[in-house]
Amino acid sequence: MNALYLLDSYMQSFEATVVSASGNRITLDRTAFYPRSGGQPDDLGSLFRGDEEFKVEQVEAEGEIIHVLDRDGLVPGEAVSGKIDWERRYRFMRCHSACHVLSAVIFQETGAKITGNQIDAARSRVDFSLESFDKARMSEYVEKANCIVREDRPVTTRILPRSEALEIPDLVRLAMDVPDREEIRVVEIEGVDRQACGGTHVERTGEIGKIKMLKAENKGKSNRRVYFTLED
Ligand SMILES: [Zn+2]
Repeated sequence: MNALYLLDSYMQSFEATVVSASGNRITLDRTAFYPRSGGQPDDLGSLFRGDEEFKVEQVEAEGEIIHVLDRDGLVPGEAVSGKIDWERRYRFMRCHSACHVLSAVIFQETGAKITGNQIDAARSRVDFSLESFDKARMSEYVEKANCIVREDRPVTTRILPRSEALEIPDLVRLAMDVPDREEIRVVEIEGVDRQACGGTHVERTGEIGKIKMLKAENKGKSNRRVYFTLED
């Protein structure tokens, strides 16, 4: 597995070898850099060749994980060390886990299908599909989500064969798209929720902090959207 973040979300630095270099677009034999995908922004940070620093300005998932650097210069076969901007990433981890908690509560309370989420440092959002929606009740759902946060529940990830993953009822009900792969990564918040997800998460819900609702919106006939931010 060359995507180290799938196994260890807390890995901040790592050693790797350059596999390919097309100008400033680099692939590595292993990386802890998360590429923009699944509603979670990409990591920023640096690659070092000795003391020489190359800034990682963008990370893309195009079959492979491509690190877009601030300049050319790295060559296949070279050893590098990578360091991710941890403050940025850790906030995204907290936001991503918060999205799962909030999605689970919305689903439990309303039966709504979760249709998307977008994580950002300043504000994140969860989209869901529901015909009739009482905005006032949304703050109750956020309060329920905060109870789960305070319970400090464990968050674990497992990689399961597709057939086994699809037998998990929650996963089928909540999944936006179960990826078309032989192995499915399942993120579980103990006693709350299991979802197919390739994102990075905190180890316990207590790390999320406090979910603060910013606004709830109607986006067309049955599309609903709630924006939130996190307080420490
Ligand atoms: Zn997710």
